[in-house]
Amino acid sequence: MKPTQETPPEPTAAALILRLGGVDYRLIRVGRDWLLRKPDGSTYAIARTRSGMTCDCPRARYAGSGSGPCKHLTALQALGLCRG
Ligand SMILES: [Zn+2]
Repeated sequence: MKPTQETPPEPTAAALILRLGGVDYRLIRVGRDWLLRKPDGSTYAIARTRSGMTCDCPRARYAGSGSGPCKHLTALQALGLCRG
């Protein structure tokens, strides 16, 4: 018989989970930037660029910066995890 459950995480494993709009994003620190991974596997990168912090989610890419930061960037800034 094959085991049907995933191996439980190590007792010392730590993760930051951002619950946003009913979705739990796993926050992964990459240097000074962040990756937000959704349960379905899609991942958005929040990174510092010359024009400030940006997110590469569909809303941020297609709506442009003129409509203000997306919900991901807004949430990370509100939590103090990234600046401007
Ligand atoms: Zn975003």
